[in-house]
Amino acid sequence: ESDANYLISLIRTIPDFPKQGILFRDFIPALSDSRGLGILLDAMEKTLPVPVDQFDLVAGLEARGFLIGPQLAAKTGKGFLAIRKEGKLPPETLSQEYSLEYGNARIEIEKSCIQPGQRVLVVDDLIATGGSAQAAARLIEQAGGQVAGFSFVMELNGLKGREALGSYPASSLLNMP
Ligand code: IMP
Repeated sequence: ESDANYLISLIRTIPDFPKQGILFRDFIPALSDSRGLGILLDAMEKTLPVPVDQFDLVAGLEARGFLIGPQLAAKTGKGFLAIRKEGKLPPETLSQEYSLEYGNARIEIEKSCIQPGQRVLVVDDLIATGGSAQAAARLIEQAGGQVAGFSFVMELNGLKGREALGSYPASSLLNMP
């Protein structure tokens, strides 16, 4: 079995979660499988949206972005920045509000966690509408950084998440129908 097919076989699909009508894609089983985890991280590194010398920091979105971001940062020789959900960080923070596929949310970082001009690659498990990724971009720019690009494990087809990201370079490993 090819690496790609093996990885795809480890993505779990749950109908009507967390709400009726939502088809939830879960990559957690790929993390608990040793071969799957290796394939996933190697593939993320090989399909970066920009060359490794064009970003300085990897940022992950809480919570599933934390499961791959630090590993990708270590593999590419960068540091990791945690973009957190509202209310988790001590002051002073910067924050951005956005609308999710299921509700509203706010994400935060510490005020001085990005050096002026640092180029940040944003990592998450999945892009749906692109709302969280856009909010992450605004947050990084608000903090004085530059968005180098986005790297996702999965992309939901038909939700126009890519379009929402405009001209930012983006890559995703798996296109999910
Ligand atoms: P977006 O902001 O609409 O692009 O939604 C993406 C965010 O919601 C990411 O942080 C995902 O972790 C989460 N998300 C939305 N749909 C799914 C799903 O089917 N599986 C896993 N995470 C999801």
